[in-house]
Amino acid sequence: MTNKPFTPPCATGCAAAQLELFAPPAVPAKSPAEPAEFDFDAHDVVVIGDSGGKDSGSTVHEVCTQADKAGQLHKVRILHCDLGTTERGHLVEWPGALEVARAHAKQYGVPFAVRRSKLWESLWQRIRAHGNWPGHFARYCTSDTKTAVGRDYVDEVGAELRLGRPVRAGYAMGMRAEESPARARKPVLERHRMSGKGTLRVVTTWLPVHHLSTDQVWKAHRDNGIKHHEAYDQGMRRLSCRACPLAHTDDLVRSAQLNPELFEEYAQAETDMGHQFKKSISLREIIERARS
Ligand code: SF4
Repeated sequence: MTNKPFTPPCATGCAAAQLELFAPPAVPAKSPAEPAEFDFDAHDVVVIGDSGGKDSGSTVHEVCTQADKAGQLHKVRILHCDLGTTERGHLVEWPGALEVARAHAKQYGVPFAVRRSKLWESLWQRIRAHGNWPGHFARYCTSDTKTAVGRDYVDEVGAELRLGRPVRAGYAMGMRAEESPARARKPVLERHRMSGKGTLRVVTTWLPVHHLSTDQVWKAHRDNGIKHHEAYDQGMRRLSCRACPLAHTDDLVRSAQLNPELFEEYAQAETDMGHQFKKSISLREIIERARS
C-alpha cells in the first residue's frame, strides 16, 4: 500500500484541537501506553485531518493501515483545512503543505478534500477581525478555521451518504502525548455529540499516534515512504501556520528566516493591532534574531 523510496528527514503542527466544539466523552479514556482500538463497524466514515505535517503523515498511515486490515478503507477520507492568505497574498500555511496532504491521500488511495471556513476567507482575516493574536486561552484560530470546517465536512459527507439518521463519524488527528502535558492528558478515543441538540452527527475523535515518540513518527515515514514537507529539512520541527504565536521561539526565528516577507506583514499587523505576538517576544524581535 505504501510507496518507496523515501528521503529521510534531517529534523525531528498544528494537529490543532480541531474538535473542541464537541461535548464530553462517552467513551472511556485509555493511557498512551495502551492505544485504544477504533471500532470501524460503529462508524460510517473516518475523516483524517491532514495539515501536511509529519504527525498527519503518520496518522494517515496508522488509520489507513488499520482500516485496510479491517476491510474498511473505503470509509476513510482525508481533509485538509485551507487557511487562506494574508492581505498581501502570502499563504498562512507553509506553501506545499496542501500538496503533501494530497500526496498522503494518493499514497493510501483514499479521497482527498480541501475545505475552507464558510465564515472567514482566511485565518489572517479572522485574526484581524479579532484584533488580537490567538493564544493558549484564545484558540479561536483552530475552532473557527479547523474545527468548524471539520464539522461542516462531516455534515457534507453525512448528507452524501443519505443515511436517514445522524452520521457516525470518526475524526482522526495527529496529536501526540509527547508534545505537551495537556496533549498527554487527552484520551485516544473520545466520543462526543456536537454542540446543539445532537441530532445531526455523532463524532468520535481518535488520536491514533498519541503514543508515538517523534523518532517513531519519523521511522514510520522512512519505513513506509510517507511524504514529508521540505520545511523539516530546512530545520523546522513543526509544520503549523508559518507564524503561530504558540510555536517555540526557535522555530519562529527559523521560520522568519525562511519567510521574511510574511513575517514583515505580520510585524506590521502587530504594530497596527497594538498587541505583542507572543507574551515573551515580539515579531520585531523575532525578525531581528532571524537576521543576526
Ligand atoms: S495560529 Fe497556531 S494554533 Fe492557531 S491554527 Fe495556526 S498553528 Fe494552529
